[in-house]
Amino acid sequence: MNVIFLGPPGAGKGTIAALAKEKLSVPHISTGDIFRSAIKNETALGKQVKSILSSGELVPDELTIDLVKERLKEGDTSGGYILDGFPRTIPQAEALETFADIDFVINFTVERDMIIRRLSGRRIAKESGKVYHILYNPPKTAGICDITGEPLIQRDDDKEEAVINRLEVYERQTAPLIEYYTENGLIRDVDGSDTPEKVLASFLTVIDEGNG
Ligand code: ADP
Ligand code: AMP
Repeated sequence: MNVIFLGPPGAGKGTIAALAKEKLSVPHISTGDIFRSAIKNETALGKQVKSILSSGELVPDELTIDLVKERLKEGDTSGGYILDGFPRTIPQAEALETFADIDFVINFTVERDMIIRRLSGRRIAKESGKVYHILYNPPKTAGICDITGEPLIQRDDDKEEAVINRLEVYERQTAPLIEYYTENGLIRDVDGSDTPEKVLASFLTVIDEGNG
């Protein structure tokens, strides 16, 4: 099953994808994670996108589309995949149609106040890739990753100024995808404001019903 996770930054897409990929045995493909890993490894791509990510703007469509097109050619996608954070613009969605067959687009709905609370408390571990929240999903020892023991950090784009810009970018460039995918009947709303376990359960119910 090929699924897109749509929703504003902080809606919980990455968190639910990390849980769902175990249940469904499919890869979790996050364009944000791909860019952050390139930045960490100081690759040519990383150097190209570093300042774009810090500001909360979007990476150019052409570059992002090529990256996803190549990623979907890898063997691990043959049994399905979760696309998290792509597409984020109408041109990206149009391009995706030429090289992928999407079954569902899950639109995670969360109120703005909650988004801000989630983003301001988000902490990540660069090595393990695990995502925490200082209140809602804290590590066993404050500030330390449970898996690797590395110190947790705040993403540059989770600082206040970038967050406000990212929410504007989302409204302007990504929210129009809700209508786009409503028109072709692929969209399913999932309330993202509950606990991760409940949001995961709602997602699994939605895709089960869609298949039945
Ligand atoms: P996205 O991938 O949509 O940007 P994340 O999955 O990174 O969002 O979640 C943003 C923050 O909110 C993280 O700190 C995460 O731990 C926390 N979070 C995610 N889902 C929930 C939830 N259902 N309840 C409480 N906190 C959550
Ligand atoms: P995310 O981890 O999904 O919050 O993405 C972090 C950042 O990566 C975004 O703010 C953008 O700068 C960039 N990015 C991720 N996915 C895309 C995309 N599909 N198109 C353009 N930029 C993206």
